Amino acid sequence: MRKNRVLVTGGAGFLGSHLCDRLIKDGNDVICVDNLFTGSKDNIRHLLDNPYFEFIRHDVTQPLFIECDQIYNLACPASPKWYQKDPIYTFKTSVYGAMNVLGLAKRTEARVLQASTSEVYGDPEVNPQPEDYRGSVNTIGIRSCYDEGKRAAETLFFDYHRKHGVDIKVMRIFNTYGPRMDVGDGRVVSNFICQALKGEDITIYGDGNQTRSFCYVDDLIEGMVRMMNSRDGFTGPVNIGNPDECSIEELAKTVIGLTDSSSKIIHKPLPLDDPVRRKPLIDLARKELDWEPGIALSEGLKNTIEYFAEVL
Ligand code: NAD
Ligand code: UDP
Repeated sequence: MRKNRVLVTGGAGFLGSHLCDRLIKDGNDVICVDNLFTGSKDNIRHLLDNPYFEFIRHDVTQPLFIECDQIYNLACPASPKWYQKDPIYTFKTSVYGAMNVLGLAKRTEARVLQASTSEVYGDPEVNPQPEDYRGSVNTIGIRSCYDEGKRAAETLFFDYHRKHGVDIKVMRIFNTYGPRMDVGDGRVVSNFICQALKGEDITIYGDGNQTRSFCYVDDLIEGMVRMMNSRDGFTGPVNIGNPDECSIEELAKTVIGLTDSSSKIIHKPLPLDDPVRRKPLIDLARKELDWEPGIALSEGLKNTIEYFAEVL
């Protein structure tokens, strides 16, 4: 017997496709909704013949009418390169998308999980970032279409919860990487690996002293499924990410080492409002979800390099 009918918006993207794999493996009936803005059918091709998997090409800024027990809301471009291409559309995707899945959850009484982000903390003044830190976001900057869109989505989730009793789960995802990131995605891990494998210059933006904390996709998906199935009444927000902080320069050197590449490091201007430090505090995830990441950066990078070596 199938366990749940699960809707995954953004299911043809990097994280969404791994989530669909996991949900199918766990015996669920999965409906993947995606408009393929940054995702690709290639990410879910292996699932298309599975009778328990359905793909629907749909834009979440429009309402959806589907019967389901659980909803994972991942639809939204996540890479600065892509979310800044059409900032108004990015904002609409976050806000209208949240309203549409929340309306659906209200009608069907489904539990709904929001893929929020560490970007709600903006360029943080505290390090590491706990969930009760309210953030430092430039409301009029080039990243705010994404940051403020995701913040507004969190607001909607909590208002639907308080006003209509919708069963919500909010998780704040920190930088996650792994196989199926798109070659042209523009995020740092895929850029550095592709550049190293092709022997091209490795492009560090700024001096490379800015930090991020990189979580391997398998760890992230485990945290996401645990959050969805966490105890009644636990809404989050909860940080899910790897607390191992790493500078962008260190990442570049590690990638060069692991690929045995002849690529040289070059520096390009730092984009506006690029956060200086980012590291999650994950005490809440440990306590509520009994979760912590288990895959070290070097191990996750090796798997990711293998993937890109095949794709390129
Ligand atoms: P991604 O770009 O690979 O996936 C996003 C998916 O959403 C794509 O398949 C895209 O086609 C789809 N999409 C975009 N707009 C849509 C719309 N209007 N209607 C329907 N589908 C739409 O990115 P990802 O890394 O897989 O991120 C997935 C989610 O996780 C996003 O919501 C993102 O904000 C969040 N997140 C990811 C990270 C990370 O490091 N990967 C960090 C924080 C938050
Ligand atoms: N970055 C970089 N070179 C690249 C792509 C990104 O130095 O080719 C830097 C970027 O400026 C940021 C960090 O890497 O400081 C992470 O960028 P990414 O776009 O992956 O994610 P985000 O900034 O949203 O965390």
